[in-house]
Amino acid sequence: MARRPKDPTTRSNTPWLSRVDISNMAVALWGCRLLYPHALDKLKLYHSYSSLKEREKIGYDYDIRKTFGRSAITVMAPHGGKIEPGTSEIAEAIAGLEYDFYAFEGLKKSGNMALHITSTSFDEPQALYMAVNSETVLTVHGYRGSGEKVFVGGLFAALRERIRDRLAGSGFQTGETSHYQGSSPSNMCNRCRSRGVQLELTRGLRSAMFHDKSLRSCTSPTDLFLIFVQSVRSAISEYALALSRMSDK
Ligand SMILES: [Zn+2]
Repeated sequence: MARRPKDPTTRSNTPWLSRVDISNMAVALWGCRLLYPHALDKLKLYHSYSSLKEREKIGYDYDIRKTFGRSAITVMAPHGGKIEPGTSEIAEAIAGLEYDFYAFEGLKKSGNMALHITSTSFDEPQALYMAVNSETVLTVHGYRGSGEKVFVGGLFAALRERIRDRLAGSGFQTGETSHYQGSSPSNMCNRCRSRGVQLELTRGLRSAMFHDKSLRSCTSPTDLFLIFVQSVRSAISEYALALSRMSDK
């Protein structure tokens, strides 16, 4: 007996999903878009600060913190707060009283990655102003991964190598990754006069730097946090000293 041919108008090649199902899903998504016009767009990341601030409320969804030091060096956490947990605290401690500090922080109860504007598109005006008026910028980022590693990138080769050497000398696993080299001139860390340095810390390393391993609270740092911060600070202190001597002339 000849097999009955499939009806091409009602069945897709995917046996568990008919064309009718696909059609219904499309209608449902379209209906969802009509009822909640921003619901689907919320799933996307913002590509600029102007589009973010149209939908997110400062002081509620996100906030900006900054302090000013005495040197033309700025330490930034453009994905701070709950976006890349721990990075604000690390950047602020590296800045101390000597260097300028800036953090763009996610405050949402959940879904803070929606506030992640990539480093090459990050254009929050206060951050841009601080960067272009700095001699160099050090940005601190969080990277997924359970290993305790820090990737050191950025276009300021001399400072980058000095920071990497100091961190390695303190026992940290350092390296480069093709994804996070910070080599674009439009990367936030490089929008300053002498180019800058970018640190990407794995989640495993950040978890080891705070007593709350979940990183929900980053108020209680471990000794590893202090060693990390001191290593980076000692690396940039000689550069800061050279800068201050140049400005005295
Ligand atoms: Zn980041």
